[in-house]
Amino acid sequence: MDLKDLYREVILDHNRSPRNFGRLDPADAAATGHNPLCGDRLHLSLRLDGDRIRELAFDGQGCAISVASASLMTEAVKGRPRAEVEALYHDMHRLLTETDFQPPRELGKLMALGGVREFPARVKCASLCWHTLEAALRQHDAAQAADASARAAAASEAIISTE
Ligand code: ZN
Repeated sequence: MDLKDLYREVILDHNRSPRNFGRLDPADAAATGHNPLCGDRLHLSLRLDGDRIRELAFDGQGCAISVASASLMTEAVKGRPRAEVEALYHDMHRLLTETDFQPPRELGKLMALGGVREFPARVKCASLCWHTLEAALRQHDAAQAADASARAAAASEAIISTE
């Protein structure tokens, strides 16, 4: 089995049996991401423990790439401090867009998505979950920073679109 087959197998596996599928209720942060080009729609909810993502779950509907990417992302970021999640986010962006990017070992199974860069139309499918995670964290930060009256207004869920 060469590396390409192995990567394809990882994506098929995570699409068939997505990890951390569902919704956390209550959640500390949540967001919905929509990729109108493909029709992917993901909902992401998370619980934080200080600066660490303690738990997260996603659900929704989308193509195999978007579901596998979200599943792989939940496994990769669960339990990690936000600074590490931020670094992964940037590495994923480079993996999906730069042909000569040498992925660091920390990406682990996420490297399976590297082949997507050969299909520019699918890059948004693979990156949707990451943009959704960023939106959920930004919303959470805004709610934390706001005073009590503004917090109620900010408590509504973030919705992002890749368009
Ligand atoms: Zn898609």
